[in-house]
Amino acid sequence: AALDRIAAVEGAVHAFLHVDAAGALEQAAASDARRAAGEPLHALDGVPIAVKDVLATDGLPTTCGSKILEGWVPPYDATVVAKLKAAGLPILGKTNMDEFAMGSSTEHSAYGPTYNPWDLTRIPGGSGGGSAAAVAAFEAPLALGTDTGGSIRQPGAVTGTVGVKPTYGGVSRYGLVAMANSLDQVGPVTRTVLDAALLHDLIGGHDPLDSTSIDQPLPDLVAAAREGAAGDLSGLKVGVITELSGDGYQAGVLARFQESVDLLVKAGAEVVEVSCPNFVHALATYYLIMPCEASSNLAKFDAMRYGLRVLPEGIDNPSAEDVMRASRDAGFGDEVKRRIILGTYALSSGYYDAYYGTAQKVRTLITRDFDAAFEQVDVLVSPTAPTTAFELGEKLDDPIAMYLNDLATIPANLAGVPGISLPSGLADEDGLPAGFQILAPALADDRLYRVGAALE
Ligand code: GLN
Repeated sequence: AALDRIAAVEGAVHAFLHVDAAGALEQAAASDARRAAGEPLHALDGVPIAVKDVLATDGLPTTCGSKILEGWVPPYDATVVAKLKAAGLPILGKTNMDEFAMGSSTEHSAYGPTYNPWDLTRIPGGSGGGSAAAVAAFEAPLALGTDTGGSIRQPGAVTGTVGVKPTYGGVSRYGLVAMANSLDQVGPVTRTVLDAALLHDLIGGHDPLDSTSIDQPLPDLVAAAREGAAGDLSGLKVGVITELSGDGYQAGVLARFQESVDLLVKAGAEVVEVSCPNFVHALATYYLIMPCEASSNLAKFDAMRYGLRVLPEGIDNPSAEDVMRASRDAGFGDEVKRRIILGTYALSSGYYDAYYGTAQKVRTLITRDFDAAFEQVDVLVSPTAPTTAFELGEKLDDPIAMYLNDLATIPANLAGVPGISLPSGLADEDGLPAGFQILAPALADDRLYRVGAALE
């Protein structure tokens, strides 16, 4: 059914970079056989899933939305992909994304944009717009995304889907092509909170192949979602983040946000306002730390080991450096080049302390804001994104306007805490989905599911 749906709508939506119909059908048949034989099955055995193209998949192309990796087929699976396969989830294919996960609209993909199924003239969010659009367009019931500054939650918000960024270290990053190692997390994109809990539970847990993986069992996410579904939140303290719920938000987004807060009160939660004064510096901090890490990570695309190799024109015996220059010039898009330049500049001698060092200090202040807030409340809430889906092309020539989309999602990545975005209804002015964000302390991912399911 998912493959039929893909055949019917993919021409309009372009959520996928690669569809593996034969592989998915083979895995589905194997699942049927297990069921017929009465074998014990995982709850998601046989449920098809789409995977963001930044995760390595053995035998399936993995491009990260970049020309520099065109045609690359990894010889191994990311740990999360291996877990999907072991639990029997057929993999439908790889989803479109901003090149190397840099962007908020999926317009920076080297393979063309993805279109928002709610309105095909609008962006599906980014960088994981393909995964969100695939779920929103009913091409896949489940998808995997990655979130460095909001790339699961913001696409979730603007496509009316559920997206979760787990606690940093809660889900393995092995086989995830890194943008910024200290910020990246893999997480679920689904239509319901319970689906997200089931998928998070499956992909999470300790992985010795990822040195930042936390060696501790996950809380019981599925039980938390089931408990929350009963709708009783008495005893729960919720903090509305002052700095993330006022200026700079579309009126219709704020109205839906307020309605969701009222629902929390109705369910018995106590709601207070909490100030996190350093959050106003989160965007600036992120746009130093992330390019620094990204510029270092992308140095490996040197045209020597894998991927695109372009021989420079007009040079007789090109040196390795000539080939690297020509290949990186042809293989990377403008946004990637912009961040490499920013990152190498900020890391260069003489500037390192002033930029990177300062950003690291402010990052600590943001983490302390979370610590102080979570001494007062169990969870924090805000709208996920400042606006509903904007028009394709609207922010393409204005990187700062594009960056502002992640205003509310970035603090969680800087502090490593988990967050979920849920649909909170349609904004009055344009009839497009708005997102509601819930944030919890590190390792308390279960709270996202309890509160999220109560709102559903
Ligand atoms: N939009 C943000 C950026 O461009 C976040 C991207 C992400 O989470 N991968 O960096």
